[in-house]
Formats: sequence, C-alpha cells, structure tokens
Amino acid sequence: MTASLITNIGELTTNVATPADRCGTVHDAAVLIADGLISWVGSSSDAPAADAVVDAGGRAVIPGFVDSHSHIVFGGDRAAEFEARMAGEKYAAGGIRSTVAATRQASDDELRARVRGFIDEMLAQGTTTVEIKSGYGLDVETEQRLVRLAAEVTEEVTFLGAHVVPAEYAGRADEYVELVVGAMMDACAPHATWIDVFCETGAFSVAQSRRVLEAGIARGLKPRMHAGQLGPGQGVQLAIELGAASVDHGTFLTDDDVAALGASDTVLTLLPGVEFSTRQPYPDARRLIDAGVTVAIACDTNPGSSFTSSMPFCIAVAVRDMGMTPAEAVWAATAGGAAALQRSDIGVIAPGRRADLVLLDAPTRVHLAYRPGVPLVRQVWKDGVSVWRKG
Ligand SMILES: [Zn+2]
Repeated sequence: MTASLITNIGELTTNVATPADRCGTVHDAAVLIADGLISWVGSSSDAPAADAVVDAGGRAVIPGFVDSHSHIVFGGDRAAEFEARMAGEKYAAGGIRSTVAATRQASDDELRARVRGFIDEMLAQGTTTVEIKSGYGLDVETEQRLVRLAAEVTEEVTFLGAHVVPAEYAGRADEYVELVVGAMMDACAPHATWIDVFCETGAFSVAQSRRVLEAGIARGLKPRMHAGQLGPGQGVQLAIELGAASVDHGTFLTDDDVAALGASDTVLTLLPGVEFSTRQPYPDARRLIDAGVTVAIACDTNPGSSFTSSMPFCIAVAVRDMGMTPAEAVWAATAGGAAALQRSDIGVIAPGRRADLVLLDAPTRVHLAYRPGVPLVRQVWKDGVSVWRKG
C-alpha cells in the first residue's frame, strides 16, 4: 500500500459539520491518502509517515466539486443565439431543437471527443464528479447513443428523453411521451441511473412529467427534475411526492414550494450560470437556506442557457447575486452536489471517503468568490491520483 500525505494545509474544508461550522474547517491540517481513499485527517504536527509528501504551503484544500447537473453530450454550439439574446431577444426552451439537429448528425467519435474535452476542462477547475444528461437526441437511437457515451466517463448518467418535444412531434406531445416511456426507455434505462424531465411551460406538463418519472421509477431509475426555471408551477410538489433526489433551477418558487422542500429530503439545485447567461432574475438562496432547504450548486453546462463549466464561477455568482455566504456556496458545490446525487462517498474529506481533493492557489476558500474569473485551482486528486496540476 502506498500512502501519500498532503500537509501544511492552511485551511482544510472537510464538510464534517459542527454546530458552528457546516464546512468543518481545520487549520494547519494534513490529509493522508491510501488506496484511493482518505485514511486519516488531522493536524499537520500529528501527521503519520507516508511514502510521498505534498507540502500545501499554507494554502487551502477543499473536497473536489460535485457538479450534479450537466448536458455535455451534444453537437454544434449556439453562440449566435447567445449573441442575439444579449442584444435583447428573449430565452425560450425551443432553442434546444437546433442542438438536437446538430447532435443527431454528429458521429460517436465526434461526441466522445467533445465530452472528454469538457471532462478535462472541468477537472482543471476542480470538478471531480459530474452528472451527465441525455436529451439532445430525442429519438430512440440517438438518446441511447448519448447515455452510452455519458456512461463512458461518469457513473452519474441521467436519461432525459423528456427534455423538449422534438420538431417531428410538434402538437403531439402526449404521443412523444409514450415513445419516451416505451421504446426509448427500453433502450436507455440499462445505461442510466437517473430519470429526469423538463417540467415547464413549453416543455412538459405536470401530468406528462408524472408519467415519465413514474415509468422511470418502475424501471429502477431514480427521479430528479428540471422545474421552476421560467415560471412557477406544480413541478416541485410532484418531485417531492415522488421522492426526487433533486429539483433543479428553482428560480420561481412559491412559499408553499419552499416550505415543502424544507420539510423534505429533496435537494434544490441552483444553477447560477443560467440566470447569468439568460439575464433571468436570480433565485433567492437565502430564503431557501433559512427555510431549511438543502441547496446544491451546479453548472448546468449546456450550449443554450449556460455554457460555463466552472464551479468557481458559479460559486462567485451565487455569493454575489443569490445571497449565499462563501462557506454556504462552497458547501453547496461539494457536499450539496453529493446530496443531490445521493452519494455519501464524495463531497466530504473524512476517513473512508474517496480521495477527491482540490488544492487552491489561495489561503482560504473565500477566494473562490472573492477572486471571480481567476484560475485558483492548483492541483486536483481523484480517487487519490493527482489528475491535474497547474503548469
Ligand atoms: Zn438542465
């Protein structure tokens, strides 16, 4: 067994909560890694011997980011749509269809190269776990290609055949839903862990969303949902009723939604890049946290509404514009993301957990929000292996 020690950590964020500190902060800390797992955490002065030692030089270490919401298997891009939107055009869910056309035309190798590029980009920004959704195929063959390609790079694959109604089913949404829960589900469920639906005006109704999620649950998939992005609706209540791991977006929530989330185990995943990139109003994270809701932050990397893959950027926006403290935002991007994926082995730096860690080029985690846009990730370990290091 080879053991590696990271020592002289100025500020270690463990996320082992205490009543006064949800981030479980330890100063002058060290972490021992063995066999891909964390085997010891404590003070630098008490650190055990190791085969290899990394001196953190007084810098901060945090858990690897857990990005619980992405759509990174797609063809083409929509820079022109973004440019038009910034010139005053309104965002609507239908823009997804142009990506669907480009994705159907792309080969497996083209899509695979793209996904691997995004994974590398994410690792360099400290993301060690990413969930990936299908949803740009919207036919049986292409949706299956997308979940299969996603499963090559992550354990967290989501079948999102019910992303939007494809052009060839315009005006026949119920027929399309029957395809999703029938042949498409048969083709995709073996490659996926999660079932998701875009429950929104312009996408799928509450009744259609229930049909999709219940069919997925019957096939052994676990539910999650897109809701409350463009306006309020009954999606949040349905997600809670069905025991969804997470409701994502939540820009528009009623007081009843917030109270129900606070009383449930369902996580509310905020996607700051979406509001930033669509000039939508920001959700009020303060209201959610004060109501006892478990909040996660994710990038929602996609070519239409949020083409950032940077968790540090999303943390900075959540602090600046959603009312989160830096500590809450870093927790939401690590332990919160793990909760949104119902994972207990990641998002926390404690013995027995996976050794997914990020060494920052900064003395504290606060710098992630304090220095927006600055590449502060110095070194990244995934499963105990150093997978990225600043050159
Ligand atoms: Zn999404």
